[in-house]
Amino acid sequence: MTRTPVIAGNWKMHLTRRKSSALARDVAAHHGHAENRRCVVFPTFVHLDHVRRNLKNSNVVLGAQNCWPKKEGAFTGEISPYMLRDMGVQVVLLGHSERRHVIGEEDALIAEKVKLVLRAKLDVMLCIGETLEEREGNRTFEVLARQLKSLKMVKPGQEGRVSVAYEPVWAIGTGKTATPEMAQSAHAEARSQIEGILGAEAAARMPILYGGSVKAGNAAELLSQPDVDGALVGGAALTIEQFGPILDAASA
Ligand code: PEP
Repeated sequence: MTRTPVIAGNWKMHLTRRKSSALARDVAAHHGHAENRRCVVFPTFVHLDHVRRNLKNSNVVLGAQNCWPKKEGAFTGEISPYMLRDMGVQVVLLGHSERRHVIGEEDALIAEKVKLVLRAKLDVMLCIGETLEEREGNRTFEVLARQLKSLKMVKPGQEGRVSVAYEPVWAIGTGKTATPEMAQSAHAEARSQIEGILGAEAAARMPILYGGSVKAGNAAELLSQPDVDGALVGGAALTIEQFGPILDAASA
């Protein structure tokens, strides 16, 4: 099964409106209409509209970093997936480790988000990954299995709109990267868990991205692993000088 590699940039709570617009233009120019890789950017909510306008003339996909699992209502400060769709967003990042461990989101809430994002006809990129303590306690696979249970919300016919990003928490923003072997082992385990939930065909087709201090210098080796289908990039996604070579590594 060949899966088209996906390179995604998580811009987190960074950049000004002007800088995110400029970066969007740079990413659009670099990626263009390449068909041998997918490129997604996740700007902060308030820059979505500007980024969308600056991505035109490319097939870079516009993503949002989060949402609330309700269509509308009295949820002050929150944003519905339907509002995101109205804004031109195509994919929503869910369960990022900063939302799990800094904001305190739990699996049950993330599962509700998966359900509503898919119902709103948007794609889901579900982040999973263990902490250092969990890895050292040999609990990595158990944690992945627990976090992947959110995929039970995926209904028949929706599988093709879901991707997973394995991001070991200890590797995010720390400069420590999982070795290609560690990434491959976690991805293969995740794929087998996904098979148990959604079946063999969905599991074989589903892109599983690696995230955690991916840079130009380590991207190619990580992407060469059979079950690593792309990269979710944080720090190195904030300039085209760093992000461009990672995009190129996906189509090398
Ligand atoms: C991320 O935020 O998803 C991430 C992987 O960050 P970094 O690349 O900076 O480790």
